[in-house]
Amino acid sequence: MVYDPDNIFAKILRGEIPCDKVYEDDHVLAFNDINPLAPTHVLVVPKDAYISMNDFTQNASDTAISTLFRAVGQIARDLGLGDGGYRILANIGDDGGQEVPHLHIHIFGGRPLGPMLLR
Ligand code: 5GP
Repeated sequence: MVYDPDNIFAKILRGEIPCDKVYEDDHVLAFNDINPLAPTHVLVVPKDAYISMNDFTQNASDTAISTLFRAVGQIARDLGLGDGGYRILANIGDDGGQEVPHLHIHIFGGRPLGPMLLR
């Protein structure tokens, strides 16, 4: 699979369409999900072009991987979720239900989130 530079998150990263930004550094952008499923629902997106976690964990450097996950933890704390808890989720590919083919990690929080998956 080849990275599609016209996916919606690539357009957000290029500033071609707006987002409700909650965090940005040299490597990561985070913004509120347009269709939130919890009181807090943030998407954490690496700025480099990776399709999914499958792509990222094969092709990104150790530094890029640790940078992304440190940012996820920092963003969650900045959002006030560190003590009460939260959930992170990355959908991968068709079976994972991934809609946007640029790696993103969901952060959900702000209420008890219930079971991990529907049975
Ligand atoms: P996925 O199913 O790929 O893991 O999740 C994609 C997420 O992106 C969905 O939760 C969806 O609501 C969100 N989304 C799709 N388009 C946009 C957009 O243009 N802006 C923002 N902020 N979120 C979007």
